Amino acid sequence: MTDDKQSPEYFAQGERVGVLTDQPLDRLLDYRAPEGGCFLGAFVEVPLGPRKVIGVVWGPGSGDFDASKLRAVLRVLDLAPMRTEMRQFLERAGQYTLTPMSMMLRLATRAPGLTDPPSMRKILRRGDQDPDRMTEARARVLDVMEEYDQAAFTPSELADLAGVTTSVVKGLVKQGAIREEEAPRDLPYPSLDPDLPGKTLSADQAAAAEVLAAAVQGGRYGTTLLKGVTGSGKTEVYLEAVAACLRKGRQALVLLPEIALTAEFLKRVEARFGAVPAEWHSGVTLTERRRVWRMVGQGAAQLVIGARSSLYLPFRNLGLIIVDEEHDTSYKQEEGVLYNARDLAVWRASFCEAQVVLASATPSLETWANAEAGKYTRLDLTSRFGSSVLPDMRAVDMRSEELLPSTWISPTLKRAMAARMERGEQSLLFLNRRGFAPVTICRACGAQVACDHCDARMVEHRFLKRLMCHQCGATKPVPTECPTCKVEGKMAPVGPGIERLAEEAAALFPEARIAVLSSDLFGSARALKQRIEEIAAGEADIVLGTQLVAKGHNFPLLTLVGVIDADLGLQGSDLRAAERTFQLMRQVAGRAGRSERRGEALLQSFQPEHPVIRAILSGDEESFWRAEAEQRQAAGVPPFGRMAGIILSGSDLAQVFDLGNALARNNGPLRQVGAQLFGPAPAPIARVRGRHRVRLLVKADKGVPLQDAILRWTQPFKLRGDLRLSVDIDPQSFL
Ligand code: ADP
Ligand code: ZN
Repeated sequence: MTDDKQSPEYFAQGERVGVLTDQPLDRLLDYRAPEGGCFLGAFVEVPLGPRKVIGVVWGPGSGDFDASKLRAVLRVLDLAPMRTEMRQFLERAGQYTLTPMSMMLRLATRAPGLTDPPSMRKILRRGDQDPDRMTEARARVLDVMEEYDQAAFTPSELADLAGVTTSVVKGLVKQGAIREEEAPRDLPYPSLDPDLPGKTLSADQAAAAEVLAAAVQGGRYGTTLLKGVTGSGKTEVYLEAVAACLRKGRQALVLLPEIALTAEFLKRVEARFGAVPAEWHSGVTLTERRRVWRMVGQGAAQLVIGARSSLYLPFRNLGLIIVDEEHDTSYKQEEGVLYNARDLAVWRASFCEAQVVLASATPSLETWANAEAGKYTRLDLTSRFGSSVLPDMRAVDMRSEELLPSTWISPTLKRAMAARMERGEQSLLFLNRRGFAPVTICRACGAQVACDHCDARMVEHRFLKRLMCHQCGATKPVPTECPTCKVEGKMAPVGPGIERLAEEAAALFPEARIAVLSSDLFGSARALKQRIEEIAAGEADIVLGTQLVAKGHNFPLLTLVGVIDADLGLQGSDLRAAERTFQLMRQVAGRAGRSERRGEALLQSFQPEHPVIRAILSGDEESFWRAEAEQRQAAGVPPFGRMAGIILSGSDLAQVFDLGNALARNNGPLRQVGAQLFGPAPAPIARVRGRHRVRLLVKADKGVPLQDAILRWTQPFKLRGDLRLSVDIDPQSFL
């Protein structure tokens, strides 16, 4: 960006400019540049009908709009203009995900108060005068100011730090001992010091850190897969890449898959760089969001720790993006704009010559294949840090275990748990099913209780004393009489959920302290975090968890992981089922024995000879990936072929199907590029919130211009009534 008014990026007053607004119009609007002109990328306010809307100067106007009717840009906002690389990124992401640019702009302006002038607030600094009379309270205030040398305080901050009332502070202001100044409300983030001593790295950590630091130093685009088992020190290593980035004067972004992990992470960053970085996710206050957005744009936030939407922040000089746990499915946004933040991170970086680090113990097949193909560099951390080693993994063959009806903990697993109890160590039982029981059935007629709004069974939550639909969240009381046959007292829970397993564990070990970690049992991320800390400190003997526990928490006393149903993820038609199960099992097993004690993982399975279970147990990951890659290649599916899901929905099933059939009949644009079309078929979850869902699946070869074909195919169809059509490029889930 330049200030040069001769540059082609400058539009003089009255010149025609094309403005992208956040209104759903799907084209640029022409305006006249305002008094003083404006630069390409400027954030502006423009009149639209009777309203004022926010927009960005996207280029010269197209000229086909009557010049005499052209209105002027109202004003240029007091914000750094959107950088070229950001405009390129939004365009590319919009084209790829088939998202209108107005929606893309919304993603890039998700902060409050962007049209406001930077707001001011009162701050205090040490004045020239001394107070006429020095009381103890006054002395404390002045001491604090001395101690925090040069710092500016708000009146209440200062009073708090000194342990006095604000009237003491006001008195000092009156005396001239403290000066009042106006300062922008949004303060820069404290600067991070990359040269504070980090941890002493092991030889292979240091080698990996050096490669990453050199890449960042080079200042060009590149992507690296940083692979290492949980606990191998990936975080320590990529923090060195962050240090290199900060030294170069560029900004860094660390994406985490889960908000619950940020607090712990911020502490690590503070320990390494001496200050807390900026934070961006749905749990951040509006005031703080405004501050992050503005400071990132001014380069006054060197490091952002955030969720996937931080990719749309207006970085002034982004040099590095870390995607931690890159395989995590929560990087895929499944509502609104459908995108995968891991893939977008790579584009975001390529447009601004930044480095990307994809960190994982169990990379996605996509990333693994990109590394195999040489598109990504690959770095491996082979051992766990210190003396901790991967747990011994064994299958428990459930066909030869004796279990009472409605129990799920095998005698083998029980013995292993008992041994932990005796040694004062912790056991973790993993079951990826929330609630008490997945199905409630009538013993008289066999009917199951289903959701009234969705095609989903209701899950009993005993903790809430209700049945809940995991699709739409609807709840109802557990019926005493069968809704179908009206027989009284025959409703029974079938199958295990995490709450039911907790009952079983409590019955087996009445003296044990039991903790249940399931996302629905905690009111807030803070409550969950606190519970996790208590468990880490040893305040539980048996921990039961859903997939929540698979993500990066450290439990030093944990030496046994029991996977209740290792077969669970192997069923179903999901193309990634094997990959998911493999990743999840290894992550969960990685919870055991993270400190000095050796861990053990037991996988309960009815098919221990299944290739996925065997690969998990053997620990031979490369052969798992090679086998999985071969299968996908043969089937022509991602990452070796391309796929897109088309989801049609509406309140009238016949109408939805009519549209699906019409799309299937008129698929010329797809045939032209050799793409195959499957469907229409009811989506696996065929009704959500009262809307019927029908899906079509498009499959094409890798090199095919799929988005273009899909546009030409779907655009001629007018959507009547409440019909909706959405396109999911590279679908992750097939719901
Ligand atoms: P990962 O990100 O691969 O799971 P971490 O970086 O979180 O691994 O490291 C696991 C634990 O080991 C952390 O508590 C970390 O501080 C510690 N650790 C890793 N490497 C070192 C090192 N070189 N010196 C001291 N502690 C280390
Ligand atoms: Zn429902």
